[in-house]
Amino acid sequence: MNSERIVQDASSDGSFRIIPRAQHSISRKSISPGALRVLYRLHEAGYQAFLVGGAVRDLLLGGHPKDFDIATNATPEQVRAQFRNCRLIGRRFRLAHVVFGREIVEVATFRGSSDDGSGDRHSIDGRLVRDNVYGSLEEDAVRRDFTVNALYYDIADFSVRDAVGGMADLEHRVMRLIGDPQLRYREDPVRMLRAARLAAKLRFEIAPETAAPFALLGSLLADAPPARLFDESLKLFLGGYGLASFRALERYGLLQHVFPVTARVLAEGTAPHFRSLVEQTLAGTDARVREGKPVTPAFLFAAILWEPVCAASQALIDTGMDASSAWTHAVDRVLHEQAQRVAIPRRFTITIEEIWALQSRFAQRTKKRALRLLEHPRFRAAYDFLLLRAGESPELAELAAWWTDAQQLRPDEFAERLGAMPAPSPLTDAAPTAKRKRARRRRRKARPEGGVETPATDTSD
Ligand code: ATP
Ligand code: MG
Repeated sequence: MNSERIVQDASSDGSFRIIPRAQHSISRKSISPGALRVLYRLHEAGYQAFLVGGAVRDLLLGGHPKDFDIATNATPEQVRAQFRNCRLIGRRFRLAHVVFGREIVEVATFRGSSDDGSGDRHSIDGRLVRDNVYGSLEEDAVRRDFTVNALYYDIADFSVRDAVGGMADLEHRVMRLIGDPQLRYREDPVRMLRAARLAAKLRFEIAPETAAPFALLGSLLADAPPARLFDESLKLFLGGYGLASFRALERYGLLQHVFPVTARVLAEGTAPHFRSLVEQTLAGTDARVREGKPVTPAFLFAAILWEPVCAASQALIDTGMDASSAWTHAVDRVLHEQAQRVAIPRRFTITIEEIWALQSRFAQRTKKRALRLLEHPRFRAAYDFLLLRAGESPELAELAAWWTDAQQLRPDEFAERLGAMPAPSPLTDAAPTAKRKRARRRRRKARPEGGVETPATDTSD
C-alpha cells in the first residue's frame, strides 16, 4: 500500500488515489477485445482513456462484466474520427458507440461539473434532462452514482484511479451514493432503484446515509418516465438476480413506488400463497438466466400481478357482477394502474392477458377444447404458470399432472385418452351446470388465505 500515490489532479482542485497495477486484480486478459482496442487506439492518439463503471467494479470483485464502458477526454467527435465503426448517439448524454461485430463499446467524454449555464446542461425541477458539459476525470467521477461505480482503470499504466473512496467501499462491500443524497436522488430518482439492484446483485449493504432518503424521496419515482422504469424493471428482475432484487426493493420500501398494487397485496399479508408464487417465479427466472435459457418479462409480470387481478375480480363479483365481466374489468384495471408506473409494452401485456386467460381453460378437458389448447401459441407459458400455481395450491396438482402427461403423449394417444375421459368432474371440468356454478362460487368465496384460484371465466362455454 505504501507505493500508492495521492496525486493532485492538474485540471481540477481535488486529488485522487492511484492504485498501481501490482495492487489490484484487473488483468487485461479479462477485458473484452473490443474495449481493449478502443482503449489502446485512444491512448495512441494522445487522449486519456479509461475503463470505467460497472466493468471496473465487477472485475475488481472477480466477476464477469456484461459490458465495458470507456471514459476519455476526447470529445464525441474526436472519438468518432478515430474509428470507422463508430456512431454518436443520445441527446441527454451524448455518447460514442464503437461496434465490433456483436460487441458495442460505449465511449463517454468526461462529464464536467461547471454549471455556469454556458454548456449544454439542463434540469427541470432538479431533474437532469440534458448533460453535455465536458470536464476532467475527477469531475466525471463525482457525477457518477455510487463510489464503487466511479473507479477508472488507466490503459496508460494499468493503474486504477479513485477520486471518491470507491476502493474502500468495494473492500467493505458498501453501496454509497456520491455527494449529497437528497440532491442526487432529486436529480435522478432511478438511482434509488439502482442502489437496491446493485446491492442485491453484489451482496453489498447500502450505506445508511444512502438508504435514509428512500422513505422521503421514494415517491419521486412516480415522476420517473414509465418507459425508463420498464427498462429498469428488466434489469431488476431478468438480470439473473431477480429474487434478491425483489427482496431488496421490498426491504427498502421501494416496491410500492414501482409495483404499487403488488406491494399493497403483499403488505396486507392476506395472500401467503402469492408471496411464494412471486418468489418461485423469480427464482425460476434466475435459474433460467444462469443456464442461458430465454426469459420473457411477460411471464414475470403475469405472476407479479396475478393475485391483484384475482382479488380485483373477486371484489367485483362480490358486488354482483358476473364472473366473466368481472375478470375482464379486473384485468383492465390492474394493467392500467401498473402502466402508470411501468410502461409494459403492448406485446407483453397481450401475452400476460393470454397466460391469465388460459388458466381457466386448463380445467376444460373435453376433447375439442383440450386439443385446441395444446396448440395455442401461449400454451407453454401458460402451462409453466399453471405448474407454479400448483406448487403453491395443492388442489391444482392433479390438473397440472394431467397436462404434464398430455404433452408426453403422441397426438393419437392423446385423442384416445380424451375419448376415454370420464364424465366431467365438478372439480376439473367445464360446462358447469347451475348447481356446479353455485358450488364454485362458494369455493371461491371460501378462499381466505387468498389461494390463487382459477379466474372466473368459466361462463365462456
Ligand atoms: P450493471 O452491472 O447493471 O451494468 P453498471 O454500474 O455498469 O451496472 P450501467 O447502467 O451500465 O450500470 O452504467 C454504467 C455506469 O454509468 C455506472 O457504473 C455509473 O458509473 C454510471 N451511471 C449509470 N447510471 C447512472 C445514473 N443514473 N446516475 C449517475 N451515474 C450513472
Ligand atoms: Mg454496465
